[in-house]
Amino acid sequence: MYPEPIQKLITLFTRFPGIGPRQAARFAFFILKEKDPFVSELRDALAAAEAQIGICSTCFRMMERPDGTVNSCDICTNPRREAHLIAVVEKESDMRNIEQSGVYHGLYHVLGGVISPLDQDSPKRIRLKELYERVEKRLKDTAACEVILATNPTTEGDTTARYIERVLAPLASDHGALTISRLGRGLSLGAELEYVDEITLKNALTNRK
Ligand SMILES: [Zn+2]
Repeated sequence: MYPEPIQKLITLFTRFPGIGPRQAARFAFFILKEKDPFVSELRDALAAAEAQIGICSTCFRMMERPDGTVNSCDICTNPRREAHLIAVVEKESDMRNIEQSGVYHGLYHVLGGVISPLDQDSPKRIRLKELYERVEKRLKDTAACEVILATNPTTEGDTTARYIERVLAPLASDHGALTISRLGRGLSLGAELEYVDEITLKNALTNRK
């Protein structure tokens, strides 16, 4: 019912998380009404994000790559981080919260999602194979590795953590040096890591088991 270019914008905006058709239409009309400089700023920002942001090939967090060639992020390449620790998080915002708490000095692995008990394909959509290979390589190259399952204390987070435990179990029996731990139960049920305060997070990390 709208002219095709507007409909196209609306369709694109409905793909944003949490955005329905009505809000998408408001965005589209806002853009058409604003015109420049907003539209050119938006266009430039999109182009810059596409050109300058990459994904760390080790932990899969987003990172800036000024010259377009760097493949690993500043955490993965920092020699002062404890390389035997890998905290597995659902998404980058969880990781950022752990970083801000200042109690954790190991590395990360961003899964990019969770396993849903109702969706059989969901294990394929998160970076499980990558985690397995990373841990396997770490155990081959060096002695010890601790995988800290820092998924959220939600049904899906728990399902994901249990699934990962099962996936990594063969590595634990092959190489005695693999420990798999989970964030301590200081976190209340349903609390999203993204919103948990620093002290709770510190306790959860210290009391991992
Ligand atoms: Zn990284």
